[in-house]
Amino acid sequence: MEKVSFVPGKRKYLFCADKQGMEILQPVIDLVIEKKLPFELFSIEHPVFEWLSKQKMGSFLYVAMEWDKLHAMKQLAEEVGFSAEEMQYIGYGGQSENVFCCRCHGITETIWQEKLEINCRHCDLLLEVSDHYSSLKNAYLGYVAKL
Ligand SMILES: [Zn+2]
Repeated sequence: MEKVSFVPGKRKYLFCADKQGMEILQPVIDLVIEKKLPFELFSIEHPVFEWLSKQKMGSFLYVAMEWDKLHAMKQLAEEVGFSAEEMQYIGYGGQSENVFCCRCHGITETIWQEKLEINCRHCDLLLEVSDHYSSLKNAYLGYVAKL
């Protein structure tokens, strides 16, 4: 698992995580408290979009949660306007998901990772895993990855 690291010089520190994720972030939270820096903890059980969108520029966002949730969270943060330099993500665990191949229509089972690209188990095509879940196929749709 990746290690969380403290990024100095930010106006405010935001920690967004589930229960296990908070434990992962704890070393940095402790440090921020020790340095008496402004921070906010946010549990993902609450609507996160509203909370994120009212944050001011110069805040730094830490996120720690399961890989599958993390992916959605990342997109949300980007929508709100956080750039890659203003966030740090730690993913853990993860459940296996099915990915539907756009070329051969085969199903490949994969564990959610940060890099959502896999090779189709059937035709070896490099697939980019999308957010589109097909309940019909019981799988996420995989598109041809852009190289
Ligand atoms: Zn395929």
